[in-house]
Amino acid sequence: MEKQTTICGGIMRKKVTLRNNFHNTTSTVFAVDNVISSSSLKRARKKLCGMGDCLCGDIRGPQDKIIDICYSYSAGEFAQVSEK
Ligand SMILES: [Zn+2]
Repeated sequence: MEKQTTICGGIMRKKVTLRNNFHNTTSTVFAVDNVISSSSLKRARKKLCGMGDCLCGDIRGPQDKIIDICYSYSAGEFAQVSEK
């Protein structure tokens, strides 16, 4: 759906809408080279749910793009985005 892509200095920034179909919330983040950083992901999770003891999983239900949540020792939690 969203095809807003900007090329600046070879870095591809893409707008990605994350959805939560339990609370009916959305959050728009930027993916840089198809990676959503841990800080953006944290902010998005807070907007999607924000309840500390909720088990909805924050990013939930059908998404516009394929979102793979990954973990690394250096970066913590981040997300990989790929087109459907
Ligand atoms: Zn929730």
